Amino acid sequence: MTIQHQRDILKEPVDGKCRLCVTKDETTQHIISGCEKLAGTYYVRRHNNLVQYVYWCLAKKHNIEVSNLWWKETLVQPQVKENETAKIMWEMPVQTDVNVTHNRPDLIYINKITNETYLIDITVPSDYNIGPKEIEKLSKYHLLKTEISRLWNTQTTVIPIVIGVTGIVAKSIKKYIDQLDASIDIHILQKQAAIHSSTILSKVLGDTVFVRATEEQHSHTDTHTKDILETQNTLPSPSTEAEPAIQEQNTQQFTI
Ligand SMILES: [Zn+2]
Repeated sequence: MTIQHQRDILKEPVDGKCRLCVTKDETTQHIISGCEKLAGTYYVRRHNNLVQYVYWCLAKKHNIEVSNLWWKETLVQPQVKENETAKIMWEMPVQTDVNVTHNRPDLIYINKITNETYLIDITVPSDYNIGPKEIEKLSKYHLLKTEISRLWNTQTTVIPIVIGVTGIVAKSIKKYIDQLDASIDIHILQKQAAIHSSTILSKVLGDTVFVRATEEQHSHTDTHTKDILETQNTLPSPSTEAEPAIQEQNTQQFTI
């Protein structure tokens, strides 16, 4: 349980502060989305995992060589993949005539067939913040969009992909995903965000989340969730093409 729960609900004599940063109240939302001690590691891995999936879908669409399984497609930054129909850049800054502060979205996807360019930026904010984050992303890359349209003579669109830490999304996400036309499954994005968040929570709280009631049934799952935290930027590696059942189980367990 969280220390804030101990303080406010159980009325125990604790200060309620996060055991990691010791500055903010230790709530569930703080652990999975607001702790500065986790921002540079676990939050980044969660974010990169979603980028990896979107990248893989785009590459697949254009027959760019990638692994058969998206979670095995490891990204090494910075990265450019290109063929006659598309160019996909990961974490590549764009050179422009005017000074553009935000010149490096997560992915830049150029569809050479339609002469369209997409600036894709993915974020996994607190559930309470998904609406503002979408607007923030559109605004953040507006100048880059204008510059790229002019310099590359292409139609440019900003695609914010905002997935709340527990997998919650705004209705508007479908509109953005559909524009990419790359068979991106929003449910996979939601599920992956939730899995990573639940494993972060589990790690911080000492795995208590996963132990209750399902200890024997899911002992294999627990092993895998720890693996996620200990393996940078990768996921459990199931042996089949199907989305692994182990991930479904994890998501369902995230009920606190
Ligand atoms: Zn903290």
